[in-house]
Amino acid sequence: MQALFSDAFFKDLAKQYGTPLYVYSGDKIAQQYNHLKDSFEARSTRFFYACKALTNQHILQLIRDLGCGIDCSSINEAYMAVRAGFSPDRILYTSNGIAFEEIEAAVSLGIHINIDSLSNLEKMGAKYGHNYPVGIRLRPNIMAGGNLKISTGHEQSKFGIPLEQIEEILQIVRRHQMHIRGLHIHTGSEIKDVKVFMEGANRLLELIDYFPELSCMDLGGGFKVAYRPDESGTDILQLAAETKLIQEAMSKRAGRHIEIWFEPGKYLVSECGYLITHVNVIKENGSTIFAGIDSGFNHLIRPMFYDAYHHIRNISHPNAPEKKYTITGNICETDQFASDRLLPEINEGDYLVFFNAGAYGYEMSSSYNARSKPAQVLHYRGETRLISRRETLDDLMHLQIL
Ligand code: PLP
Repeated sequence: MQALFSDAFFKDLAKQYGTPLYVYSGDKIAQQYNHLKDSFEARSTRFFYACKALTNQHILQLIRDLGCGIDCSSINEAYMAVRAGFSPDRILYTSNGIAFEEIEAAVSLGIHINIDSLSNLEKMGAKYGHNYPVGIRLRPNIMAGGNLKISTGHEQSKFGIPLEQIEEILQIVRRHQMHIRGLHIHTGSEIKDVKVFMEGANRLLELIDYFPELSCMDLGGGFKVAYRPDESGTDILQLAAETKLIQEAMSKRAGRHIEIWFEPGKYLVSECGYLITHVNVIKENGSTIFAGIDSGFNHLIRPMFYDAYHHIRNISHPNAPEKKYTITGNICETDQFASDRLLPEINEGDYLVFFNAGAYGYEMSSSYNARSKPAQVLHYRGETRLISRRETLDDLMHLQIL
């Protein structure tokens, strides 16, 4: 896999800011968004960046300036979106399992809301009736996604209101004369097959007649990007072509224009990001050679949590003869990034760079073992700047009452 930055650039950043270090390419984010924008019909499609993937204000502002909307999964993310300058009409709050107070707070911001339980729908109806249009998050009963932990639309999933509860939904909606502006599904993450998106869309199409005020159908996020050298992502042009057909069918059935909304997270920020790490120790154990780096699941948890593959490049010796290495971290857990991975010979002091670290990398990091969260750097339009500093001991202790 080809990195977006040269080895020399990575090394300069590592020397200037220290490691571990997250580095993002703003140009790549812009390229990804522009590809979406140019592939889909502007009048009929809106994109809301699922900011849970990476919430740094500089990233949010960059995405705001590109013209993209933003999808939030907590009220604090919604406040961050407001701080980054998104107008309420460009903010979507797709809740799951939240207290009604958060929905009330979202209403006072004037943002779009997708409700995902019968109980919150009932409370919403009782309090706001027809006065605040809302979307309903449904569970489409489709099993798809990179692995079970990131599959959210299947029959055992907690997300959304099950399709088979449509009668209960309709009773609430009618009782309170609610204005339902959209239906939402998010089937999972890393969905390559366009058919899965269309299967979900077709389930929504079947519900159109029940909701006379619908103006949009939200198909969620989950576009796949390549993590392995031999992988490819969702075919965006095919997705756009098939979305156009289903959007036309929905509009025809509704008798008015229906917009399609998407909430891409990984698609916008996964490939733009790298985690630069430093090799502390090489340890030989029979046939296994461990390369111990200055990181762990406290900085990049996806390999341990989701068994995710992240491509690794030895930028210090990219052309050395290859050997198999097990790459581990420095925290007191089994924090293996890769097992028996073929890599150019690694020496203590080398820098290893992890690819696809933009989405759910820094954002899922913690300060476990009292190790600091890395700093973050953004390179955009020829300029490189620090967008968050490394945590210090004082940061780690600042909530404690001493
Ligand atoms: N929308 C919702 C409701 C989600 O839960 C998620 C991910 O968890 C996304 C969008 C973004 O998914 P992805 O990053 O795979 O595009």
